[in-house]
Amino acid sequence: MDIPKENFSDWYNAVIKEAELCDLRYNIKGFVVIMPNAADVISRMYRLYEDALERKGHRKSYFPALISEKNLEAEKEHVEGFAPEVFWVTKAGNNELEEKMIMRPTSETAMYPMYSLWINGRCDLPLKIYQSCQVWRYETKATKPLIRGREFYWIEAHNVFADEAGVLAQVKEDMETTEEMIHQSFGVPFIFFQRPQWDKFAGAVNTYAADTMMPDGKALQLPSTHNLGTNFAKVFNVKYMDDDGEEKLGWQTCYGPCISRIFAAIVSIHGDNKGIILPFHLANVQVVITPILRKEGADEVISFAQTITEQLSKKYKVVADFTENTPGFKYNFWELNGAAIRVEIGARDIESRKAVVVRRDTREKEFVPFEDLPKRIGEIGEEMNKSLREKADEWFATMLKEADTLEELKSAVENGGGFVKVPFCTDELEGESCAEKIKEECAANIRGSRYGVNEKPSGKKCIVCGKDATTYQYAARQY
Ligand SMILES: [Zn+2]
Repeated sequence: MDIPKENFSDWYNAVIKEAELCDLRYNIKGFVVIMPNAADVISRMYRLYEDALERKGHRKSYFPALISEKNLEAEKEHVEGFAPEVFWVTKAGNNELEEKMIMRPTSETAMYPMYSLWINGRCDLPLKIYQSCQVWRYETKATKPLIRGREFYWIEAHNVFADEAGVLAQVKEDMETTEEMIHQSFGVPFIFFQRPQWDKFAGAVNTYAADTMMPDGKALQLPSTHNLGTNFAKVFNVKYMDDDGEEKLGWQTCYGPCISRIFAAIVSIHGDNKGIILPFHLANVQVVITPILRKEGADEVISFAQTITEQLSKKYKVVADFTENTPGFKYNFWELNGAAIRVEIGARDIESRKAVVVRRDTREKEFVPFEDLPKRIGEIGEEMNKSLREKADEWFATMLKEADTLEELKSAVENGGGFVKVPFCTDELEGESCAEKIKEECAANIRGSRYGVNEKPSGKKCIVCGKDATTYQYAARQY
């Protein structure tokens, strides 16, 4: 890596290429090939996330990738929101299709008509189903691999409850799952914002989105969870016979963690000038053994390194680098690729019965007796996870700013960016014109109010129109 992380955009592109995460040479614009170095990590993230959802009562399904035009058009707001970005299928073989189809941009309109067939009585609720799949959206803005493209890999969970209380509890559970996975497990900090009414998911009552901050001060949306109320249930006839003999509408939520994008956030937030750094449990290579080979005693070093490799492989993902490259070359290569812990073994180490152990994040060295290696590596892995998370949290805290005037807001987003808290007239639809003004003047977007934090402005004026402020909203530049 020749590019410092301060030049984030160039650094990111270089890391994607040099660490062989994606190949951008695929010949359809906005579509990239995810290579094994990234795909293996993404698979691990999927497994962890799916386990977390299943522990909370979700069950897996696979729905078709194609949705009929009729389904898409059933929910008015939903179709308005998504129609501009769907890919259409209009021809099959030599035949023009009588009924056009779309490639799913999200699966409400694929799943809910089926839910209507599956749900009869109250005993069928709650219904909690998810699928792990690709979705396609015709993104017209500039694309960036894994951050914004026309195809992405996500999980979508779609739930039905008997009443609104079920919906509110599910939204809370989704937020807890987000904390458990993205913050605690992956070490990525975020804030849950309640999106203003003009920016909610098409067809939802309310949208809550977890936004993280990228190193260049621009916000990146991670999972969002949506209270759909009974909006979709009315359209798709998702009803149940209640115990009192009355037919009632189902109350719905959906939740969409985009795994490929969360991977991009992990790479961006934890990485450094040397390359990628991954939490220990996500790393493709948890331990890389680098034998230091000199002319004399090379055979002994190799055989000893093989023994250690075998031993550690019982517990960890281990690679031994027996290539003839110089130690310096090997260190750089494995640091670039995010190998979590390096174990160096040379002739002198065999004599002293200790290995040099170097962790990827701090590059601190320690000498560990051979017999302690299996245990100590696990401990270092945990220390690494904790300190990656803490370091990210500390940095994230410095990205929270405040402004009372448009000039202050502009200066904050132009100097390092971040989330800027501003007094604002309203998060109802009427507030959109003030949000537009912020976009024009500061190139920043209103992300919403901070969920679960009780902060109401008193005696403050809207940063744009000067009316009495009723809410604090957070503005940021965004991906
Ligand atoms: Zn205003």
